[in-house]
Amino acid sequence: MKYKKIRLKPKKEESLRRFHPWVFSGAVQQKDEDITEGEVVSIYTSNNEFIAVGHYQIGSIEVRVLSFDEEKIDLDFWKKRLTSALLLRQSIGLLSTDNNSYRLVHGEGDGLPGLIIDIYAETAVVQSHSVGMHEDRMMICEGLKAVLGDTLKNIYYKSETTLPFKANLGAENEYLYGGKDVAEVAMENGLKFYPDWVKGQKTGFFVDQRDNRALLEKYAKGRSVLNMFCYTGGFSFYAMRGDAKLVHSVDSSSKAITLTNRNVEINFPNDKRHEAFAEDAFKYLGGINKGDYDLIILDPPAFAKHRGAIRNALQGYKRLNAVAFDKIASGGIIFTFSCSQVITKDAFRLAVFSAAAMSGRKVRILHQLSQPADHPINIYHPEGEYLKGLVLYVE
Ligand code: SAH
Repeated sequence: MKYKKIRLKPKKEESLRRFHPWVFSGAVQQKDEDITEGEVVSIYTSNNEFIAVGHYQIGSIEVRVLSFDEEKIDLDFWKKRLTSALLLRQSIGLLSTDNNSYRLVHGEGDGLPGLIIDIYAETAVVQSHSVGMHEDRMMICEGLKAVLGDTLKNIYYKSETTLPFKANLGAENEYLYGGKDVAEVAMENGLKFYPDWVKGQKTGFFVDQRDNRALLEKYAKGRSVLNMFCYTGGFSFYAMRGDAKLVHSVDSSSKAITLTNRNVEINFPNDKRHEAFAEDAFKYLGGINKGDYDLIILDPPAFAKHRGAIRNALQGYKRLNAVAFDKIASGGIIFTFSCSQVITKDAFRLAVFSAAAMSGRKVRILHQLSQPADHPINIYHPEGEYLKGLVLYVE
């Protein structure tokens, strides 16, 4: 099968030669007629040399590259790519009876721009961020079944909030396979949780904090822990296994509080050390006394989703961290995060620095955290780096 063609302006192939996976609309010289959004297209240099194949889309990014080889995007392609993604996760020892939740495909980080696949025990949750991935969803589903075999019983497709809304595609949230009789409980590092892919945020659980939760567990012993922005309570149940003295989980969403309580209960039934509160972060922090907590986690939602929001977002991180510095006990530890892709590591660190300076307290950085290995960053696409965190010791 021959794909429709897009030809680039002179010299505009250079970033593709360095394997950057996007073609911006400004780089396009000429294209075949009637290319529809989501279609697979072949990209050629101004000298008519083949350079890549990818999904066409409408917007400033016109093509997201699937391959730099002249190949067909068919079931074999999907099997090959999903196998390679799985092999990476297996080869770093991520999959075990203690850990059956992981990200199998992380978009550009796995050479598949616009596609996210998270695995929770027997369920795969597939999320498209481009019309092309949406169009290919049934092939992706067949590929997943072939590659994961019997361990996979269920595929939920969840793209209602991630596809360009103008595309008006329909069938954005539905089971592509299975839909019943699957394990309700998944495991992360030996702890249990109920992933709620239908009603939960994103794919149902944030697997990207796995390593950072494990680090928190090591510091929790004997401490009074405040897990702010707890969502499904991940940091809370790790803190409990780490022998925290008490753990308070806070989230503005009452649904999140229900999920947190359920996840803590399944690991630590009737454990009175834990309590959860549905409240706004600033309101809750405003109401506590200095010294009530000696371990505080701040893992807010992305304060900036696009470049225009960076300034305000940095102010938000500064304000939030300033309150934590004011309230934390002496000798306390703060785990503070930003998951905004547009906020750089340095900018985030500067915001936390400003907050520390305002508080006048002595603060040392113990760890600089990032996203785990199942959220790899394509070295040719540094934009894939999004999660950053600092572990701080406050005197
Ligand atoms: N730490 C979590 C993920 C946090 S996601 C984990 O490990 O899984 C961010 C959470 O912040 C969401 O659950 C959202 O409901 C909550 N949130 C958003 N705005 C908030 C606010 N103003 N106060 C408290 N929680 C808020």
